[in-house]
Amino acid sequence: MLATAARSSREALAPLERPCPYCCSSIPREAKKCHACAEWVVGTSGGIAAALLRLLALAWAALTVLGALGLWTIGQGIVRWVWMHAVDQAITPHVVNLVLYTVIAAVLLKGLMVSIGLALLARLAPRRPRWWT
Ligand SMILES: [Zn+2]
Repeated sequence: MLATAARSSREALAPLERPCPYCCSSIPREAKKCHACAEWVVGTSGGIAAALLRLLALAWAALTVLGALGLWTIGQGIVRWVWMHAVDQAITPHVVNLVLYTVIAAVLLKGLMVSIGLALLARLAPRRPRWWT
């Protein structure tokens, strides 16, 4: 009698619960976070600051690539000018190219490092339920 009542009440409660997709323990249907394994069971985001940081990282990477392209264009102009004017025996187009590629490599490396740093910083933001669904 008591067992039947307990079973029927459990069956009535059953639709109100669902298994956690991570640890399979049953959690309330409305739960956002599992009480057993502490995993979020809804879509999460790092929040607006993390989103902005990620955007900044992308913008920085794009600017770095654009800057490198700009430097390369300017460098080609300088190489052409050096080729035409033969300023100094030591400054050959080859030397100018070498300096140019070194500068471009440094700009690219530094810019991408900053971008990666910003993206990593964005990842540090704690996860929380998304405000959009
Ligand atoms: Zn869980």
